[in-house]
Amino acid sequence: MSRCVVTRRVHFNAAHRLANPRWREAENERVFGVCNSPNFHGHNYNLDVSVEGEIDPETGYVLDIARLKDIVSECLLRHLDHKNLNLDVPWFRDVNPTAENIAVVCWRVLAPAVAPARLAHIRLWETERNYVDYEGT
Ligand SMILES: [Zn+2]
Repeated sequence: MSRCVVTRRVHFNAAHRLANPRWREAENERVFGVCNSPNFHGHNYNLDVSVEGEIDPETGYVLDIARLKDIVSECLLRHLDHKNLNLDVPWFRDVNPTAENIAVVCWRVLAPAVAPARLAHIRLWETERNYVDYEGT
């Protein structure tokens, strides 16, 4: 049987404020810049979710992409889209919502949800120019 990687891109909008609560205000401002804005600010995130598995000989799919879309919507987007990550999303109560940490949270939520396909890769775009990759390690 052949194995293949299938990717779905999803989009969400969310606000955040990056800060280390153990640091002084000036230090947070210096390190996190605009993302330390006291009144929060928003990003238009794109998330590429890639799953890997055997191609089912009956359907020709690794995982029906419509099902992948539903899984990502249900498990992730309804919790993140149009939310303040710091205030509205318990996953970030004690986690600084950087792109790196958001990617790790997305992985932890999605990996069990896509079984028996294997979550192979996620890429979180915070801006058109900046993205982070995570593969669960
Ligand atoms: Zn930001």
